[in-house]
Amino acid sequence: MGRNPDGAPWCDACYRRAGAARRAAGRRALILAAVTAAEPALTEAGVLRAIDQMAHGRRLGQLADHLQANPSVLVIGPTSHPPVLDRFVAALVVAGAKNIRSIHPTCLDCGRTRPARKQLPGGAVICSACYARRTSTQLCAGCARPRRPYARDEAGHPRCHACTRRARTDLLSLEQIERLTSVLAVHVALDPAQIIDVVTRSRPAGTTCRSWPSCSTTIA
Ligand SMILES: [Zn+2]
Ligand SMILES: [Zn+2]
Ligand SMILES: [Zn+2]
Repeated sequence: MGRNPDGAPWCDACYRRAGAARRAAGRRALILAAVTAAEPALTEAGVLRAIDQMAHGRRLGQLADHLQANPSVLVIGPTSHPPVLDRFVAALVVAGAKNIRSIHPTCLDCGRTRPARKQLPGGAVICSACYARRTSTQLCAGCARPRRPYARDEAGHPRCHACTRRARTDLLSLEQIERLTSVLAVHVALDPAQIIDVVTRSRPAGTTCRSWPSCSTTIA
């Protein structure tokens, strides 16, 4: 691995250790700069103490990456999410921070400023009340089982994912039958009603799913 900055030879392990130490120092410097820019009430030593108290290794990287990606987050928030920032801000408040405080994010579903209960793919968060609403089950109007609503039917009743998918499949095969009938009507000496009858009966009968005791979904 060649020689270290002082010209002494070094092994792989020491080379890697030196790299990790350099990255950690860079992250501490980045976090320190972000805090001192937003918070004049804290001394540099106080901020460094807060950093070392709560952020080691992976957490230090997460915190630095988040502050780098969201440069004004310590001023405008949210600071109570993600958890690594929440803990760090709590440590800064204990250390005497005046400007930096806990600021909750805006819930994607209800638009209120609330602690985050769940982060969605893409980064938006929802509060605990909205999380409970999203995850609660209702009786599906299609299969009458308690299921998480996936969509609503024309009457506004909840439908589970399986019933919604089945309704779409049925609609699709109906369209296919109509298309087939209109093509055949040109060539076959049957009236459309007879053609539909033949086409519908020649469809393979659906099989019933038995992979789970409570499931009786028809597989087209
Ligand atoms: Zn070594
Ligand atoms: Zn909400
Ligand atoms: Zn259902």
